[in-house]
Amino acid sequence: MADAVSDVVVVGGSIAGCSTATLLARQGVRVTVLEKAPGPEHHKVVCSHFLQPGASPVLRRLGLEEQFVAAGAAPNRTQGWSRYGWFSLHQEGEHGWNLRREKLDPMLRRLAAATPGVALQQGLTVDAVLRDDAGRPCGVGARRRDGERVEVRARVVVGADGRGSDVARLAGVPGRVLPNRRIGYMAYYENMALATAPDSVVWFRDPEVSYAFLNDEGVVVLAVFAAAERLPEFKADGEAAFLTSFDGLPNRPDIMSARRISPLIGRLDMPNVRRPAALPGLAFVGDAAQASDPLWGVGCGFALQTAEWLADALGPALAQGGDLDRALARYRRRHRSFLLGHHLMMSEYSSGRRFNGLEKLIFTAAPRHPPTAALVGEMAGRARPLHRVMTPPRVARTAAAAIRHRTAG
Ligand SMILES: Cc1cc2nc3c(=O)[nH]c(=O)nc-3n(C[C@H](O)[C@H](O)[C@H](O)COP(=O)(O)OP(=O)(O)OC[C@H]3O[C@@H](n4cnc5c(N)ncnc54)[C@H](O)[C@@H]3O)c2cc1C
Repeated sequence: MADAVSDVVVVGGSIAGCSTATLLARQGVRVTVLEKAPGPEHHKVVCSHFLQPGASPVLRRLGLEEQFVAAGAAPNRTQGWSRYGWFSLHQEGEHGWNLRREKLDPMLRRLAAATPGVALQQGLTVDAVLRDDAGRPCGVGARRRDGERVEVRARVVVGADGRGSDVARLAGVPGRVLPNRRIGYMAYYENMALATAPDSVVWFRDPEVSYAFLNDEGVVVLAVFAAAERLPEFKADGEAAFLTSFDGLPNRPDIMSARRISPLIGRLDMPNVRRPAALPGLAFVGDAAQASDPLWGVGCGFALQTAEWLADALGPALAQGGDLDRALARYRRRHRSFLLGHHLMMSEYSSGRRFNGLEKLIFTAAPRHPPTAALVGEMAGRARPLHRVMTPPRVARTAAAAIRHRTAG
């Protein structure tokens, strides 16, 4: 049995885990990251790579923007369409990025591994959360691929191990699960001309949502999030069902003359899960804390944002000898006050239902009332808590704009 001691042990070396480790170690904290995938190029496959504007300040702080540009990342300006018309989701100022995970994940891992104070170990699957005599988490146990067991003792255990977190299960911290009644299918294309280029596009067909996201090297990700009722159709002939999903959409790309460079990737089970982001001696970041409906492309951005919040709360307490549990409680409050509203809104819409009355007003107003388009753009940008974006005066102005349009028409 090999043993190690660290200030923090992070389980999962993907977006949330590597960002947390880098930002903590820069404050003088010793961090061990354990990642079960053995290869440095490991990356998540099922993702559509949209990084919302709310995450851009974290990327800048990590010092990755130049590498993003060098890797060909596409600024993710996006046009939205519904039957009420077109509108731009783009906000003046901050923009987000589209960069495929095959580039993003290794980039974050290299950054963490090169940061003094971070010990990144791959090929280790964590299968135990260790507790001290008082029952407080004090490290993790893991197994190497050759069967050797490893223990890492630490003052704080961080679960950054994604949707279906092993750390949460091992520590007995169940999540609150809200069902998602949509299924998702996606595929990658080269040489696909987008009429909205350089902007990406989201079609709110109501209730189905499809998109074409322009990524690095001109690769386009086409995706459809359909109500679960269409599952038999996809099971019978996935390719045909996927193509049909884009029929009749305005500015539909010419799919048949583009080159498909991936299989059709389907995801049928995407429940919305949320758990307390911190407890004494234990914290969760990224999907391990909150996995929201992928339709909205928020998980990577939230992984970066939550990593920053945890590092900012915990770093000073660890480096300067402050109260760890108060720091963890502060992180938990920030996580909740920022993300709960967004999560509940996305979870509720994942029922696969049609637009409700408020959404009809918003989508009616957005094409003809720039402040409403800005409201939708800010909501999708996730740079602020939802209650600060959807304020009663802004919603009232949106309703007035929609009603003006309807009465004029
Ligand atoms: C269809 C689909 C489309 C999506 N599109 C987008 C999008 O466009 N934009 C967006 O922002 N988000 C999107 N997401 C969500 C996004 O992929 C996740 O939110 C994001 O990957 C979360 O990052 P993370 O670091 O928290 O977890 P993950 O990326 O899931 O990483 C968890 C890591 O933990 C490791 N691990 C797990 N268990 C253990 C263990 N026991 N021991 C050691 N290591 C372990 C794993 O190997 C993995 O490397 C999409 C998701 C789906 C399903």
